[in-house]
Amino acid sequence: MEEVLLPSPPISGSAGAPPGHETAAAAGFTIAFCLEGQLRLDDQPALHEAVALARRQPGSRLVVLATRPEGQRLRGPHQRRIEAQALASLRSRLAARGIPLLAFPQQTTAAVLDEIRPLLRPDRLFQAQQSRLFGDWPIAPGRFPLVFSDFRRSLERPPEAPLPPPDLTGLGWTAADWPEAWPQEWLRPVDLDPAADSGPFLGASEGVDALVEPLGDPLAEPYWDPQSDPRSAFPFQGDEPTALARLQHFCCGSDGLRHYKARRNGLVGTEFSSKLSPFLALGSLSVRRSWQVVLHYQARQGADGGSEWLKQELLWREFFLWSEQRHGAAFHGASGVQNRQPAWIEDRELFERWCRADGGHPLIDAQLRELLATGYLSNRGRQWVASHFINSLQLPWIWGARFFEWWLIDAEPALNTGNWAYLAGVGSDPRSFGGSPRRFDLERQVGLYDPEQTHRQRWS
Ligand SMILES: Cc1cc2nc3c(=O)[nH]c(=O)nc-3n(C[C@H](O)[C@H](O)[C@H](O)COP(=O)(O)OP(=O)(O)OC[C@H]3O[C@@H](n4cnc5c(N)ncnc54)[C@H](O)[C@@H]3O)c2cc1C
Repeated sequence: MEEVLLPSPPISGSAGAPPGHETAAAAGFTIAFCLEGQLRLDDQPALHEAVALARRQPGSRLVVLATRPEGQRLRGPHQRRIEAQALASLRSRLAARGIPLLAFPQQTTAAVLDEIRPLLRPDRLFQAQQSRLFGDWPIAPGRFPLVFSDFRRSLERPPEAPLPPPDLTGLGWTAADWPEAWPQEWLRPVDLDPAADSGPFLGASEGVDALVEPLGDPLAEPYWDPQSDPRSAFPFQGDEPTALARLQHFCCGSDGLRHYKARRNGLVGTEFSSKLSPFLALGSLSVRRSWQVVLHYQARQGADGGSEWLKQELLWREFFLWSEQRHGAAFHGASGVQNRQPAWIEDRELFERWCRADGGHPLIDAQLRELLATGYLSNRGRQWVASHFINSLQLPWIWGARFFEWWLIDAEPALNTGNWAYLAGVGSDPRSFGGSPRRFDLERQVGLYDPEQTHRQRWS
């Protein structure tokens, strides 16, 4: 098992600024770096720009703001749990350099800037971008294709290389220049127990729509500690060091990547797939770093089926992110990018039973129980659940998509909608163009992927 070189943030500098900083600080800028839901130090181009400016303007200090990106809906319970872990880790790593992280994960950047301005007026603001393989359109928007195979074939350049974490030494605050006036709540620990959080969570709050709000906690079980549930396929913390360790383990520290193509349709355990999605969704892992590690593996072992397949899946993620940008609101609309109204029955009672994992189909109910308890569901399980929801229950696919977005630990709206719309026959599945959605024969699927009914027994 070989080791691959992963980035480790330089922490050589002293906490805070070197002697003399207090006087120089007067001439420097206060530079705010807004994480915009990208909870890592690795591969942050905008953070490099912020640091470059700070170096040009001696005496400058950094402050990091954790906010909710504009237009992003509130995160659901499982995602909030790992978000809190990622923020706590980031805060302590920044604190080692004297840089404060002010956490407002439920508020938008604009709202936070309004709130802090009377006490903290940043001279410059830098905002992180969502982690993508390409910083700009990989195919011109006018030629952007409707289907994935055309996207992959028409890519105009290879993915970009990641940037290392910047050296933040000397950009922190000292005890002398620390503003006493800052309210304690700006720096209060990000709570790991969502029930104890006073902010909006399951409740009737801004950003939680009428579909999700009445659902509450359908299983009425504690959901905030699935890491101790031995059945969980994602028993990991959400922070950046854990994300990098998982990437290292799957690609280079185990046979995971080599066997990925054969195992990726598994249903049970941590090793059948990479489990990178929750980290990518939180931004605690850079997708360009992930791609680079796969390339590194290929340089050593050759481009085998497993590594080529993982690259393809990362390109699927990319395809949906850029498709969402290309099609705007239509991407998330009921008629999808095909602009075709699907047939459905708005049966609210049936939907609510399904939401409680009590729809009466043992295979589907088991999948939903896993989702509710842990936030994770295998790709195969997601496909079964969505196909059954659309074809057998004939419920509105946008309801199912919204439910998934709330409960998934790796919820990324573009990926979630893209996959649901694909299965509903209004998205990018070429087989559905002008026809009907693809349908999974569940009996046959179980025979193929869960012949011993291991998953069903585990979650019955
Ligand atoms: C109905 C439905 C909803 C989904 N919603 C989401 C979602 O909200 N967030 C999410 O990250 N994935 C979503 N997926 C895609 C996929 O199921 C998950 O990415 C995958 O199961 C996550 O586990 P992993 O990281 O171990 O995947 P791996 O198999 O190891 O794949 C590696 C990475 O490739 C990307 N990827 C894999 N499959 C897909 C796919 N079908 N579409 C786009 N990207 C993909 C993801 O970034 C994933 O982390 C959804 C799939 C379906 C069918």
